[in-house]
Amino acid sequence: MISTDRDRRGSPYDLFSARVRDNSDMQKKKTLIIVVSAPSGSGKTTIVDNLLEEMTALVRSKSYTTRAPRAREVNGEDYIFVSKEEFKTKVKEGEFLEYEENFGNCYGTSSLQVKEALSAGQDIILSIDVKGARRVKKAFPESISVFIMPPSREVLEERLKNRKTDEKKDVLLRLEEAEREIAARDEYDYLIVNDNLEKAVDELKSIIQAERENKS
Ligand code: ADP
Ligand code: 5GP
Repeated sequence: MISTDRDRRGSPYDLFSARVRDNSDMQKKKTLIIVVSAPSGSGKTTIVDNLLEEMTALVRSKSYTTRAPRAREVNGEDYIFVSKEEFKTKVKEGEFLEYEENFGNCYGTSSLQVKEALSAGQDIILSIDVKGARRVKKAFPESISVFIMPPSREVLEERLKNRKTDEKKDVLLRLEEAEREIAARDEYDYLIVNDNLEKAVDELKSIIQAERENKS
């Protein structure tokens, strides 16, 4: 069932260099890495949550973040929430396939999660920003990238405000960053406009099904 209002269960580091590890042998031929990016507030989390209810053999990468949990976000479910120190240690230990700083917080994709999904023959979907998506594409050229667009800037602003999870200043930051992210949309393999949730979920599902057939 499609749910529009998802039941939603915080310094820079100078370590952000050489972030791509050599993982080229990790992706087995018959498994997919799907990378979804979208300006914050476009609906990518909602779309992916709905998709996961409908598709089997598909898991979501649970990123590590230093951001504070939003109301109803669950640790270990939506994200793995860690302190800045813990994040820094993970960076040093090389636990991230990629990591970035967004809106003053750090976000990173666990190499182990990706590796485990692929070894188990499960496709894995990563909801990450444009810079992270570029790094994943470099590490896994066969990964599939999908950009989700909001129907308009006005609708994006409305969704961010209605979500009621971010302070006014954070909404403004996210709207500014949206312009930069949208400018990168042509780098992606597929583009979906999230004007209708059900349609957007169906489109993402069709993309994955087509890519699965392509790979088999
Ligand atoms: P993101 O993960 O891209 O930051 P969210 O999934 O949190 O975005 O969605 C932002 C808000 O927009 C949420 O309140 C969500 O319920 C709503 N939303 C998502 N898709 C649609 C849609 N197609 N129509 C209306 N509202 C939507
Ligand atoms: P939010 O705070 O709204 O959940 O996420 C802010 C931004 O960080 C979004 O663009 C989201 O896609 C991105 N993001 C979430 N997890 C990761 C990650 O592991 N790596 C990267 N590079 N970006 C991430």
